[in-house]
Amino acid sequence: SLLRGIPAAFVDKVENILRPLDLTDERYRQVMDLMRQNLDAGLHPDTHATANVKCFPTYVRSVPDGSENGDFLALDLGGTNFRVLLINLNGQEVTMESKIYIIPQHIMLGSGDQLFDHIADCIFKFMCDHQLHDRRLPLGFTFSFPCRQEGLDRAILTTWTKGFKCAGVEGNDIVELLHAAIDRRGDMKNVRCLAVINDTVGALMSCAHSARNCAVGLILGTGTNACYIEDLHNVKTWDGDYNEPKQVLINTEWGAFGNDGCLDFILTDFDKSIDKHSINPGKQIYEKMISGMYMGEIARLAIERLRKHNLLFEGEGSYHLSTRGRFYTKYVSEIEGDDVDNFTVTKQIFEELELSTHTEQDCRLVRHVCSLVSKRAAYLASAGIACLLNKMGRRDTTVGVDGSLYRFHPFFHDLMMEKITQLLKPNLKFKLMLSHDGSGKGAALVAAVAARLR
Ligand code: ADP
Repeated sequence: SLLRGIPAAFVDKVENILRPLDLTDERYRQVMDLMRQNLDAGLHPDTHATANVKCFPTYVRSVPDGSENGDFLALDLGGTNFRVLLINLNGQEVTMESKIYIIPQHIMLGSGDQLFDHIADCIFKFMCDHQLHDRRLPLGFTFSFPCRQEGLDRAILTTWTKGFKCAGVEGNDIVELLHAAIDRRGDMKNVRCLAVINDTVGALMSCAHSARNCAVGLILGTGTNACYIEDLHNVKTWDGDYNEPKQVLINTEWGAFGNDGCLDFILTDFDKSIDKHSINPGKQIYEKMISGMYMGEIARLAIERLRKHNLLFEGEGSYHLSTRGRFYTKYVSEIEGDDVDNFTVTKQIFEELELSTHTEQDCRLVRHVCSLVSKRAAYLASAGIACLLNKMGRRDTTVGVDGSLYRFHPFFHDLMMEKITQLLKPNLKFKLMLSHDGSGKGAALVAAVAARLR
């Protein structure tokens, strides 16, 4: 309908360029089936080493039971912001104070020791500001990068993602690195990390705190990832005990789905360009089609292609429009949320990008591009979620979701509800629940269990 009234010959040219972004139902079913094969490969010791979707067991065995109590420190590192939090758990009541600390670009790309020294400094500042230095508080660390866990408090980073690349961390236990940095300071010996989780586990745990049937955690932010509850007898890589409950949360690390080329049949030129110019070419292929770090850029590349074919802005571009990363993912949300009767916000964005000649038709076309890109992202994530729900086979499951893309995009939730419903086995039901402060709350909940077991 956005293209209504535009001459057919013109629309044909536009559709030719954009068609690769518009996948059929059949394609999404194929993606769902491939995800299943990838999960099974990750869960089996014979195929785990070469698997793309690693399915790391987390050592978190159950969801909170509501008896978690006390004060906890939490750290949240995994994308845009680094946060330190002080959390009080008291039955269903959770209160928290937190502070965001900037991680400068030179530290994101510097040495591991620099990164962890910086983190230790931030913890120290936070403890001073909250008069906590004489207290011995259990600490939970939400560290949202792919880690092989060897226990709740042992997490070995396999690869940096999402723009981080600190030397000397891959292959090492991040708890050891954190403790070493704390010990280098000498004035915080009573801070000890009891548990490492990632943001997917945080989302699952925090939603499970109020919705007991929550069994999937999903992130749609800078990156994308999911975790789910798996029966121990399906986790052939499990080396822990087989006590009750006979289940464990699996961190799928599904962002790496497609790294072996199995998603090449749906990749567009735009996806290939993004991958080629990224700091991790050939990696995180599924993530690059879905998450907030890349979605605006996919839209920009499609818009630029249309413009170069004189189908947008009378062929007039701008310095900004031809700059990588300059078309933010939040623009996609804003343009799709705009009022089609006046396109006020869309025109404002065009002004920001110094696009001087634009018509109503340009507004409608750009909105069409944004909706194709976000629809594909939402449907691809849905194929993954439907795969997990079908695998678990639970009657009624809540999926805890966190991340700015899901939170702020005007239609992401609705698009996902529609596609998951279509792909789900009959008789299964589900809900998508927004997780509030999952990374902080989840880390505190897991640290609380760890502290009790100590
Ligand atoms: P993180 O995943 O890093 O912990 P967020 O969940 O806030 O943090 O996700 C940040 C990502 O969300 C960025 O890539 C950004 O482009 C994207 N984002 C921010 N605001 C919006 C928005 N309004 N609509 C869609 N995406 C957004």
